[in-house]
Amino acid sequence: MTYTVSVRALCEFTAKEGDLDRRFTPSPTGQEGVEGHATIAARRGSNYEKEITLEGDYEELHVRGRADGYDPSANQLEEFKTYRGSLERMPQNHRALHWAQLRVYGALLCRKRALTALQLALVYFDITTEQETVFLEQHTAESLEESFICQCQRFIGWARQETAHRSARNAALETLRFPYPEFHAGQRELAEAAYKTVRRGGALLAQAPTGIGKTLGTIFPVLKAMPTTDLDRLFFLSAKTPGRRLALDALEHIRSQSERGPLRVLELVARDKACENPDKECAGDSCPLARGFYDRLAAARAAAAVEPGILDQPRLREIARAHQVCPYYLGQELMRWSDVVVGDYNYYFDSTAPLFTLTYTNQWKVCLLVDEAHNLIERARKMYSASLERKALDAVRFGAPIALKNVLDRVSRAWDTLLEGQPQEYSAYDEVPDAFRGALERAVAAITELVAERPELLATEVEDFYFEAMNFCALAAQIDTDTLFDISRSAGQSVLCLRNVIPRRFLGPRWSAAHAQVLFSATLSPPEFHLDVLGLPSDSRRIDVQSPFKAEQLAVRVIRSISTRWKDRAASVEPIVRLMRAQFETLPGNYLAFFSSFDYLHNVATRFVEHNPHIPTWRQERGMPEAERDAFLQRFSPGGQGIGFAVLGGAFGEGIDLPGTRLIGAFIATLGMPQVSGINEEMQRRMEARFGAGYEYIYLYPGLQKVVQAAGRVIRTTQDRGVVLMMDARFAQHNVRRLLPRWWHVETLSAP
Ligand code: SF4
Repeated sequence: MTYTVSVRALCEFTAKEGDLDRRFTPSPTGQEGVEGHATIAARRGSNYEKEITLEGDYEELHVRGRADGYDPSANQLEEFKTYRGSLERMPQNHRALHWAQLRVYGALLCRKRALTALQLALVYFDITTEQETVFLEQHTAESLEESFICQCQRFIGWARQETAHRSARNAALETLRFPYPEFHAGQRELAEAAYKTVRRGGALLAQAPTGIGKTLGTIFPVLKAMPTTDLDRLFFLSAKTPGRRLALDALEHIRSQSERGPLRVLELVARDKACENPDKECAGDSCPLARGFYDRLAAARAAAAVEPGILDQPRLREIARAHQVCPYYLGQELMRWSDVVVGDYNYYFDSTAPLFTLTYTNQWKVCLLVDEAHNLIERARKMYSASLERKALDAVRFGAPIALKNVLDRVSRAWDTLLEGQPQEYSAYDEVPDAFRGALERAVAAITELVAERPELLATEVEDFYFEAMNFCALAAQIDTDTLFDISRSAGQSVLCLRNVIPRRFLGPRWSAAHAQVLFSATLSPPEFHLDVLGLPSDSRRIDVQSPFKAEQLAVRVIRSISTRWKDRAASVEPIVRLMRAQFETLPGNYLAFFSSFDYLHNVATRFVEHNPHIPTWRQERGMPEAERDAFLQRFSPGGQGIGFAVLGGAFGEGIDLPGTRLIGAFIATLGMPQVSGINEEMQRRMEARFGAGYEYIYLYPGLQKVVQAAGRVIRTTQDRGVVLMMDARFAQHNVRRLLPRWWHVETLSAP
């Protein structure tokens, strides 16, 4: 069976050696690289051949790639590399890798054109000065062929192992059995829809209630469909750590119930969580796990490839320790060789996402499972937004080297001009004024040049500002109506923000690169909202899986006599306290009470305690550390009694599981809608202009999603019983009621 590999991937596998060095270097952007290549090619003669596609075989290995240029008159094959700063500073192992690639291209060209000899030219192009530095090598066709065979021989053992792994994996998946005697109610419907989606390709938006086993109900059918659809990879992408854990548990369960096929599963974690030496830099002269990393990588990679279990963070760490390599960068390498990758959304969706880049460049056939997908809109907006704070600019100016003073002062003056034109606290604009954008771009360019020459000058505060400014400039260059530019000012401070409202344009290429995607959550109503804003294909399928719970399990009451609108909040405190007490006395047990803000929460909680000191209460606080959050949840003991006060949309509003008598009811004193503010009003205008549903897309739907998530904490199993009191007359309105789960029977009361 043929194994196809690109020249670049082949050489990265076989010719990378020495230290890992991931310190920031101001390398050219992708666009600068493309322009640099075009500039060099334009300098060559008229018979110069650009971008020559080359391919060749060695045994069952098929190697392909594209060389940058060939000058037939000089019989010279060229490879272009753009750089910034000092060429001497380029690590030796980078240069070695560039030569290895060029020699492979040389061998393939000699084969293709029956050349007996060839001159190789490695052309380094300084992106700032546009000067070329050229290194030459003379070769015979035999010497290049030898070099090519040598690279292939180093790789072919791995390629054979990969081919065998793929066959064994697919054979095992074909016989995969569901790990339980039967599916839960609703789980089969979800699994069948996911299976069909993978078989056909495209997108599925699946709203499915909590408790039916959505994670297993989506992972299992994708694995089952893997062999018949010739799927390369499954990426399980989650918004939060518990989602990752559930996926790993489900995968472990599937493995334990089947014939332990050789499925490679990898968990990705953030660098700061995986790092063994947080006080060091990611470079050989600082961190011992980066020193000689590539020399030890092959053994670590081979050990991981035959690992019988799931490569979660602890197991990956053990392997990395045994081979003395960095666990984080070992994980990054293993992304290439894993069948299932479990990680945060950002590994696939953000602007530099490695899973997306690998999928795109290797043309992998992948399926995405997007867990708790109602979070993706907000997360994607953050990925494609950038903000600059005036105090950060001032701090950078204050300590800046003399070479940067002028350019940073110009940014400061341009910023002042923006503020002079805006006396009000908040205003939004369609674009970033040219004067400010130009000044910021010049500052970024100046910092880039300086750092290229003297990287030690990149102090932390300069670094933070610099990265955000680079991001800001990149987004400003492609601003459209889906992103707004706004200025907020208060108490002598100001913030400039490029605020993404509708991330569909950025996510579009990510959906197209995947063969199939299943987005699932308990709250994806209405589906049009998610399809529109996320930019999913218009022919995406949708399902709304029926709940396994019965209306009798949950008493849902809307209290029309209470208003939690901003103007009515003070007056609402006493009635809410009375209502909570009455409910608690009627049915003592554990309750969660949700409010729109910490202030509101504390007002009600304080008054409640004054009137009812005998009822145990506990409160969520701002920025609660993990240990305190755990302690908050521990108070919900089976058969216990008391009320936990929390903020809607916060740490206790979703993703927590309190089955049985650990939680018997919830009070919800808010519709969860974002506060009316200049920013939200502007976002509403943009949504209105784009979709004709500004209020719904900015306020109503996100708010009700939080309400349904919070209420969903009460009933977790078919044995649970509970009550939800929704304390606001607006819950009785038709446009709100239709967003509540279909299985709820809602009773409307005029008074408690
Ligand atoms: S251990 Fe930490 S410092 Fe060392 S290379 Fe890994 S991430 Fe960087």
